[in-house]
Amino acid sequence: MADSQDKTCQSPDCDKPSKLQCPTCIKLKIEGSFFCSQECFKKNWSTHKAVHKAKLESQPHDPFPDFRYTGPLKAVYPLSPTRQIPDNIKKPDYAETGIPVSERQVRASSAIRCLNEQEIEGMRKVCKIAREVLDIGAAAVRPGITTDEIDRIVHEATIERGAYPSPLNYYNFPKSVCTSVNEVICHGIPDQRVLKEGDIVNLDVTCYYGGFHGDLNETYLVGKVDEKGQKLVNTARECLQKAIAMVKPGTKYREFGKVIESHATANGFSVVRTFCGHGINQLFHCAPNVPHYASNKAIGICKPGHVFTIEPMICEGTWKDELWPDNWTAVTADGKRSAQFEHTLLVTEEGVEILT
Ligand SMILES: [Zn+2]
Ligand SMILES: [Zn+2]
Repeated sequence: MADSQDKTCQSPDCDKPSKLQCPTCIKLKIEGSFFCSQECFKKNWSTHKAVHKAKLESQPHDPFPDFRYTGPLKAVYPLSPTRQIPDNIKKPDYAETGIPVSERQVRASSAIRCLNEQEIEGMRKVCKIAREVLDIGAAAVRPGITTDEIDRIVHEATIERGAYPSPLNYYNFPKSVCTSVNEVICHGIPDQRVLKEGDIVNLDVTCYYGGFHGDLNETYLVGKVDEKGQKLVNTARECLQKAIAMVKPGTKYREFGKVIESHATANGFSVVRTFCGHGINQLFHCAPNVPHYASNKAIGICKPGHVFTIEPMICEGTWKDELWPDNWTAVTADGKRSAQFEHTLLVTEEGVEILT
């Protein structure tokens, strides 16, 4: 019996034997899709074409084909399904709704909290977990891995430790870690993009445990990276180190930017202005606001018990940023690379304790 004689027309009100196969389906390697005639094919086109769309969306593709990307990097969708959190893990208030209600209640306030000894102990615990999780994610960085696979590794390492991955559903962020490749400044969404030899990638991990958030990030080299890229990454790390060295009671929050910007510019690089360090405790983001650029007007003075991040983003070219249509991914306006390092810091009587 001829194979084609077994096929019946896809048209719902037609069961004639069919030999005509939809050419788009052949191209997309979709099985079946036989029609008895051009008439039946045309009649069903408006519903049939949904089959093509579904297939295309399940394959790696650029979700923003009409967007003018600033550099070579593009989003590669589909995103993997939302990762689940076991019921026994304590979740922050935005985990279900996407809205950090407790953060919003103090959004207008520039008051900086001094944590008590018990709260500081809570911060030490969560920051140690976040460090372990980042190191596990970092160990997976290699040419050939997707940023989505790194997200899976970070997610699992986090829940294994009884913690919640703070980025997940924070203002509806879809993943458990930010992965920022090359020209991405920050807040890159893990997707099907494969890391390539010569890329740089920042992993920004925040964990929520015992009622506290702990936040850190580092930029890694993927295989062999050119000299300029290495210098960019080293300079970003040094900028953070120089700023941390200034942390002690009495230092003004507006002072860090000067040290960071002068070291960046001395090496031929620029400093991002849109994104800043932040207070962190029972809230993911709160006062103080910590700009990384010079001549800023940040409010506040370091006092024992303050906990905050410094996280300079240093750029090869312009410091100006643009947002992808996903409303998260911040990229350099000229498509040149950006690198970042971050620690969560406690102001002590004597100076600083790096919690991460
Ligand atoms: Zn972070
Ligand atoms: Zn942060």
